[in-house]
Amino acid sequence: MSLWRYVWSRCSRDIAVDLGTANTLVHVRGKGIVLNEPSVVAVDKTTGEVLAVGTEAKRMLGRTPANIEAVRPLKDGVIADFEISEAMLRYFIYRVHRRRTLVHPKIVIGIPSGVTDVERRAVRDATLRAGAREAYVIEEPMAAAIGAGLPVWEPRGSMVVDIGGGTSEVAVIALNGIVAGRSIRVGGDEVDEAIVTYMHHEFNLAIGVPTAEQVKIAVASAYPMNEDGLVAVARGRDLLTGLPKSVEVSSPHVREAISVPVQGIVEAIKQTLEATPAELSADIMDRGIMLTGGGALLRGIGRLHEIDTEMPVRVAEDPLACVVIGAGRALDAPQRFAECFASC
Ligand code: ADP
Ligand code: MG
Repeated sequence: MSLWRYVWSRCSRDIAVDLGTANTLVHVRGKGIVLNEPSVVAVDKTTGEVLAVGTEAKRMLGRTPANIEAVRPLKDGVIADFEISEAMLRYFIYRVHRRRTLVHPKIVIGIPSGVTDVERRAVRDATLRAGAREAYVIEEPMAAAIGAGLPVWEPRGSMVVDIGGGTSEVAVIALNGIVAGRSIRVGGDEVDEAIVTYMHHEFNLAIGVPTAEQVKIAVASAYPMNEDGLVAVARGRDLLTGLPKSVEVSSPHVREAISVPVQGIVEAIKQTLEATPAELSADIMDRGIMLTGGGALLRGIGRLHEIDTEMPVRVAEDPLACVVIGAGRALDAPQRFAECFASC
């Protein structure tokens, strides 16, 4: 590398993006996390025009007038609506980068491991069009593992379970590669939906998904905990009278409500362990399983996995930020992490 290119590359603020199903985070080298917003876009249905992105668009979810639609373009971990995903990505990159339009950054994007090669290439091309000098993609479980501080480059096995909104990804990693993994379409969203269904069946109460998410964060647990006395008030509409109503729900009730999606995550972990080569399983027994993603904040989820898998389980320090931090670290030390970037 010439000296000029070296200086240039050190001056430019390289960017890491976690394009999550629920939240998008952006990390800029030397500055830390500069953006953290819901992956939601509000679109005018008649003209296709993007009206709002991020926090502003999330406020519209479930509340939009007929001609406006608030969409989560990555909801199921696949890029359901490419144009809207690209618009969102460009908007976020632009917001972070607008004052430095002359210095084109290197950008790495974390994407769900279930996406196809075509989608992967499309994300990379969209990033280049948004002004990147070089664009890379990295699979989210790999980035999550790096961000959680796991030594992914070692010849020993590390296991990460990243529980997001639309998907959960389980991966066993060694020598900078994913040796065994599962990506399932079960995550925090399914948990929210299970709460909506439960309130409907048990209390004849219709609640919106945002309310269900609030109930989850306030009282939900995957395993009996000290906080079992917690109660939350869910406001919605009485399905019999049609009138507004509020209902108190307790932590054990919500635990029962969410058991199916929570068990789905346990199954994915068990299947991955079954597909793991024996030597690496022994490493995982020693070092345990690392939980990342917003779903790792569900009370008792670590304890539940510990009991079901008989392995030690830890929750990462800042589970919601692991992917973006890991992607940033990989970009910072390309010699160490070269193989971690997915080829396009
Ligand atoms: P993604 O990577 O798919 O964008 P995130 O890792 O950002 O997802 O996690 C988002 C999910 O985490 C949402 O379903 C959200 O409800 C859930 N979540 C966030 N905080 C908590 C919490 N304290 N308890 C339980 N779930 C939480
Ligand atoms: Mg994620």
